[in-house]
Amino acid sequence: MDLLLVFYQHEERTLLSCGWVNGITHVGQRFIGGAKDFWTALCKYAIEIGFEFVYVKNEKCRVTSVCSMREFKACLWRVHASLESTNNFFYIRTLHNEHTCGATVRTSKNSRMSSNLVASLIVNEVRGNPQTHPIDVMRFTDQYGLTITYNHAWLEVEKARTTTFGDFSMSYNEIRWYMDIVMSTNPGSYLSLDYNHQSGRFKRFVVVFNASIQGFRHCRPLLFIDGTFLKGKYKGTFLTATANDGNQGVFSLAMAIVDTETTNS
Ligand SMILES: [Zn+2]
Repeated sequence: MDLLLVFYQHEERTLLSCGWVNGITHVGQRFIGGAKDFWTALCKYAIEIGFEFVYVKNEKCRVTSVCSMREFKACLWRVHASLESTNNFFYIRTLHNEHTCGATVRTSKNSRMSSNLVASLIVNEVRGNPQTHPIDVMRFTDQYGLTITYNHAWLEVEKARTTTFGDFSMSYNEIRWYMDIVMSTNPGSYLSLDYNHQSGRFKRFVVVFNASIQGFRHCRPLLFIDGTFLKGKYKGTFLTATANDGNQGVFSLAMAIVDTETTNS
């Protein structure tokens, strides 16, 4: 590695993951979130230091991990942590934090880079920008010195979206809840949900707020209808009916989400 720099000079880059080396430090170190926090810290630590580990014990109340080179190279690296029942924190009980295997090289691909880990890294990105694309995720994980494939990145985005906005399929369930809320807060509105009664499959959903109905009475009696494709997991089309308020202004009357843009819809 020392010689390499002579032949291959590159700009030193500080990775966002550099703090992960402090994930596992000493006996008595505590993890407030229990086993889950410990797992996350351990995975990040292994990625940053550059080694692979295996679980000897992996339970909700105790976790023991050893270096994956334990048998092959008799590496003694080992950590054991367990739950303190009085406060539900996880504590490191024993730690042998030295690799005698010589196999610690940080790579951009570590088997501990699970999709949950990456999803937890990008969840804030997705929250700030719902239109996050897999390619953004690949750029983002690169800042952590991690390489993931496009397919993986796509899955990460879906996972992070689910964490932030709830599950796509579950959100269809909430349409009825939404209808009730609209009818109680905006009496006189028109809402209609249509679905296949045998399969339960969503067909269309129409929303016309009472304010729009009232306002339309003062518009020219003309409707302009247009639609656009939805890019979510289940696609569909968003339709809208607008009117002209007689003052060159566009007045929104109704909107609908339909499965496909057909004469019926
Ligand atoms: Zn080792």
